[in-house]
Amino acid sequence: MLKASRKIGLVFFPAFDWAISPTHPEREERLLYTQDQVMEEGLLDVDGIIEYRVRPATTADIQRVHFCVPDEEAVTTESHLISAGGCLVAADAVLRGEVESAFALVRPPGHHAMRVVHGNRGFCNINIEAIMIEYLRDRYGIRKVAIVDTDCHHGDGTQDIYWHDPDTLFISIHQDGRTLYPGSGFPHEAGGPNAQGATVNIPLPPKTGEEGFLYTLEELVMPLLERFEPELVINSAGQDNHFNDPITNMNFSARGYAQLNARLRPDLAVLEGGYAVEDALPYVNLGIIMAMAGLDTSCVKEPNYDRDYRPQPPDITMHIHRVVDEIKTLFLEGGLNKTAFTEGEIVERNRNIFYDTDMIYEKQRERIRACSHCAGALSIDSSATTGRHILGVHIPRDACDLCQATGRKWFEEAASGGSFNQVYLQDRVRRVYEKI
Ligand SMILES: [Zn+2]
Ligand SMILES: [Zn+2]
Ligand SMILES: [Zn+2]
Repeated sequence: MLKASRKIGLVFFPAFDWAISPTHPEREERLLYTQDQVMEEGLLDVDGIIEYRVRPATTADIQRVHFCVPDEEAVTTESHLISAGGCLVAADAVLRGEVESAFALVRPPGHHAMRVVHGNRGFCNINIEAIMIEYLRDRYGIRKVAIVDTDCHHGDGTQDIYWHDPDTLFISIHQDGRTLYPGSGFPHEAGGPNAQGATVNIPLPPKTGEEGFLYTLEELVMPLLERFEPELVINSAGQDNHFNDPITNMNFSARGYAQLNARLRPDLAVLEGGYAVEDALPYVNLGIIMAMAGLDTSCVKEPNYDRDYRPQPPDITMHIHRVVDEIKTLFLEGGLNKTAFTEGEIVERNRNIFYDTDMIYEKQRERIRACSHCAGALSIDSSATTGRHILGVHIPRDACDLCQATGRKWFEEAASGGSFNQVYLQDRVRRVYEKI
């Protein structure tokens, strides 16, 4: 029998009974062909590849990360809870030492879901990676985590959740936002006052192939990880960079994904996007699983590879080299112009957020306490075209005394002020979640 040289855990949750609409690209059969392919290749019979059963995430798991408006029930279904829960199962398997790494092949995806949730954005309601990471921190005392988002779209939800957290290095590699949803993810987006440089955006031009992706990984991502020294590396393993993906414009193959994974060696991989349900997902997932298990992936090839694969054009290669050089200068060679903040200063940020799936417009006014001792007290005043107006206060894990006091003061002021429909307190120090 074939034996994996690295023991891995797999979690499948295709969510056959949930979709945004019957013709939507993020649909029920997204993982159907993948499951068939994995069975057909006999991967579940390989010694060292272990399949785990899913369980739903709890309300408390969601409340470590999100302010759901009006509540968790209104913005999630059972499928969302199980998709997030599948990631928790994968995380447990790794942290208990049962496997070296694990891959959660779940849907619906999560990386466009921000801290405040009024509805569905970019096919996402709750952020399944963030829910997993905060569970790991709470349960296993993990501190430093790196997320490498290799989905073709900018992981703007994950970026939002970790914008102020210096202990989470968020690296997103994606198709340039000038050419694809959600239109963000440029190098100058580098993190909030207390976490400048902990968000790294790498926008790549349309037609980037695996050559360009692997170059970026080698030149930028690996050195960034080496310097950050995370306890865990998480891969948001979206597969929509594939040359057959119907909603994007990149040139990645299944073998390219396998090579990427073999080099990155994530502790945990979570499926995000990927919409070439029949032509790409089964082979990409196969490649990722085999790479994680340390198996030879040189035989992984899509049946239509020879017909459809387009090599990366030379002008695109040059463009990628320029982008990588620019970001290297900023993030690896100290070129990032960090703004100086006065200790204790309250820094504001105003934003407009659009929920493309649910057609909701949201306005946010964010306050963060500039602090060199912790991630800083955070408050978000959010009003949406649903008519709801809330204030959410987040007190981060390991918050210093002053940031804890500031957060509680903000919460009490808003709770007694009466201008909000709801006021939330997410106190990660005391492990309390309150809503008034
Ligand atoms: Zn991405
Ligand atoms: Zn995507
Ligand atoms: Zn502080």
